Amino acid sequence: MPLLPKLPDGRVDAKSLTLAELQAAMAELEKGSGRALRAYKHIWQRGATRFADMGGIDKASRRWMDERFGIPTLEPATVLHSRDGTRKFVWRLHDGHHIESVLIPDPGNEVSRPRLTLCMSSQVGCAMACTFCLTGDLGLTRNLTPSEIADQALQVSRTLGPEERITNLVFMGMGEPLHNLTHLIRALDILLDEHALNYSHRKVTVSTVGLVPQMQKLAAASPVNLAVSLNATTDAQRRQIMPITRRYSLDALMEGCRAFPLPHAKRITFEYVMMDGFNCSMDDAERLVQLMRGVRSKVNLIPYNENPNRDILRPSDARVKAFQHHLVSNGISTSIRTTRGTDISAACGQLGKAAQGLRIPEAASV
Ligand code: SF4
Repeated sequence: MPLLPKLPDGRVDAKSLTLAELQAAMAELEKGSGRALRAYKHIWQRGATRFADMGGIDKASRRWMDERFGIPTLEPATVLHSRDGTRKFVWRLHDGHHIESVLIPDPGNEVSRPRLTLCMSSQVGCAMACTFCLTGDLGLTRNLTPSEIADQALQVSRTLGPEERITNLVFMGMGEPLHNLTHLIRALDILLDEHALNYSHRKVTVSTVGLVPQMQKLAAASPVNLAVSLNATTDAQRRQIMPITRRYSLDALMEGCRAFPLPHAKRITFEYVMMDGFNCSMDDAERLVQLMRGVRSKVNLIPYNENPNRDILRPSDARVKAFQHHLVSNGISTSIRTTRGTDISAACGQLGKAAQGLRIPEAASV
């Protein structure tokens, strides 16, 4: 059994344990396995924050658990509402740091069902320093615990109306999830567990800059979807915006993708942030076609979200369409991501303003 994660008060963080770990930790308690299952359901399915409130468990057992385990809960600092329906949740952590999660509604259309996607964070800040991303300016402060990762889904779901349900989870918020792999894997276990939050692995996507060895470890540990943040078609170009390219070249990254044990009917999503005059030429489109050879893939084009903190420009719609057309005509499934939540700094690459002390629109907060 790995070292159990502790809370500042010295008790074990019950919310950072998988069900199997909680059962093992409670083995010395009489009927510990059954009590652990009940407690686990109370925590993740009913949002319990105290053992004292858990029905179906005798008083002595609840006291035994309370002496040894704590149930931490993310504290909401602010909720910002965008004009387009996107909601950004800023959470204050126990040590005073902040993280953000973004809830993105998509009404659907004749070919796709309505979706409510939660974009989740995995670290306070990020060490990857991608130059187009404001979170990258923060540097890495610390990893989130499994509890702090999974609790984003639980706490956001508790704010929803009776008709609303989070349908998809994506790890595209603050942090590089595979740089916090151990805690991520535990959090995924909790998110997918039928006794906890019970998400289908088909609805959960982990995005990475391309930490190649960790990609294989993720595949071995969890069947969730993989997305790779690519954003360039040559090493020289990618090195300019993504320092990780010095460690893993495009060749190494694409070899890692080809070796990734994709379950049947799944594909790797390649995210491509389009920056005008940098990576949007038709030569780039053709090189991207070549890079995709031999990988079951789909490409998600993300026109850059312009902001006052960067000199990067968004390409014209015509340029984006021409780029997409070249990929599609070469047999590559390609979508264009609609920009959401820019008025509350919730769009791709904009997270972390609260942590940086930058202005966030108070008028929209509740
Ligand atoms: S794009 Fe992702 S990996 Fe890169 S700096 Fe931003 S949060 Fe980190």
